[in-house]
Amino acid sequence: MPQLTNKIVIEKAKQLGFDLIGFAEVNLLERETEKLQLWLDKGYQAAMGYMERNFHKRKDIREILPSAKSVISLALNYYTPYKHNEEEGKGKVSRYAWGKDYHFIMWEMLEKLENELKQIEPELETKSYVDTGPVMDKVWAVKSGLGWMGKHTNIINPNKGSWFFIAEIITNWVFDYSEIITDHCGTCTACIDACPTGAIVQEYVVDANKCISFQTIENKGDISAELKGKFESWIFGCDICQDVCPWNNKFSFTTSIQDFYPKNKELSLDEVLNLDNKGFNERFAESPIKRTKLKGLQRNAGFLKDAD
Ligand code: SF4
Ligand code: SF4
Repeated sequence: MPQLTNKIVIEKAKQLGFDLIGFAEVNLLERETEKLQLWLDKGYQAAMGYMERNFHKRKDIREILPSAKSVISLALNYYTPYKHNEEEGKGKVSRYAWGKDYHFIMWEMLEKLENELKQIEPELETKSYVDTGPVMDKVWAVKSGLGWMGKHTNIINPNKGSWFFIAEIITNWVFDYSEIITDHCGTCTACIDACPTGAIVQEYVVDANKCISFQTIENKGDISAELKGKFESWIFGCDICQDVCPWNNKFSFTTSIQDFYPKNKELSLDEVLNLDNKGFNERFAESPIKRTKLKGLQRNAGFLKDAD
């Protein structure tokens, strides 16, 4: 009978291009969902109502896959060696959205990986997600030893920084489980000090109501007038807290995925304001920027122009 081991999974995942692979034992996320509830009670999720739904699934991943024994967490680096140009009349796009939508890339990689593993072990059951399901992906990434959650709430790996996407495969297979990487933020507060809107309201807690990333991507309504003049030219997302993190300054490395190279690093505000739906859909068909729809992107461009 073929035996699926950590080594085989790691080899196959690396061949497909994943940069980090870790394994966590499935258990109830009691403490973590209590923390999530406190965050929700304070209204820090803003309009992300989906964070309140499927709470039982977030707490017990076996509500998603009843036979689940392990979570395999995977990370894919998206860093490319470019910086933003600070140009008048342009808005900056968050690094993760410079190229092709990572969902397309990672879904394909995950499907291939799951198929290859099932060929080795036909009894393997899997369910995979790339930040779209009711899964506490950062918690599982930490439990799988990919890194620690920094004070800005992104996962940081001590050798690779934090410019990566995470995904997870929930599976019925038992593995050897990874060691947890302890928090290395120490006394650093660079991300908290640099955030222009004060969105990191305390260490490890981000209030989405104040976060440029949430406001420019997830928010469907108007942007709060209190934030006017504080967006530092970000039109889609915000990288400031990751840009200032010393772990990224030391350990960022270039991705092997050509599709993550920049196509939309900055956007002309006037060009955005003059787009129609057809033009928007053509221009951003394969980009994460399509998430805002034309209306959201034009709202962001207008907000930046008004602040000038
Ligand atoms: S993404 Fe930007 S606004 Fe949000 S917490 Fe980080 S620095 Fe602050
Ligand atoms: S900037 Fe400093 S405090 Fe913030 S996540 Fe990085 S190491 Fe941690």
